[in-house]
Amino acid sequence: MQITKNTVVSIHYTLRDNEGNVLDSSIGKDPLHYIQGIGNLIPGMEEGLEGKQKGDKLDIKVSPEKGYGERNDSLTQKVPRTAFGDQEVRPGMQFQAQTSQGAQIVTITEVGLDSVTVDGNHPLAGVELNFNVEVMEVRSATSDELAHGHVHGPGGHHH
Ligand code: ZN
Repeated sequence: MQITKNTVVSIHYTLRDNEGNVLDSSIGKDPLHYIQGIGNLIPGMEEGLEGKQKGDKLDIKVSPEKGYGERNDSLTQKVPRTAFGDQEVRPGMQFQAQTSQGAQIVTITEVGLDSVTVDGNHPLAGVELNFNVEVMEVRSATSDELAHGHVHGPGGHHH
């Protein structure tokens, strides 16, 4: 069975930046399970996997436009140190913030005496992504899975 819209796909993957640093990997863990064609994965991954089948190994290079977007400097802002209360803050810490666009992960990039710089860009925004992928399994999605928009059973939601 080929990967097309509404198939449930299991993949093992390793993600590297252009310098070869491993940013993420499923190796040694459960494979990633997702439903093709409904936005579970970034567009560049879905495009690269379309038409592939079980056992295929491939490299997929994803540009920021088809990945996590370009960096947007206006998403970086200084907030008063007091906004964090007694909480410890240091560069690299991530937390969820409520913004006008809903809940968003922000990263602390700089800690000053009175202010803290936070960055609302996705950590992988502006980064070219190099995926090494192996297709482990392809099957049709059930109607329940399509209605819920996620995979059920092993590696997916249990409910
Ligand atoms: Zn469900």
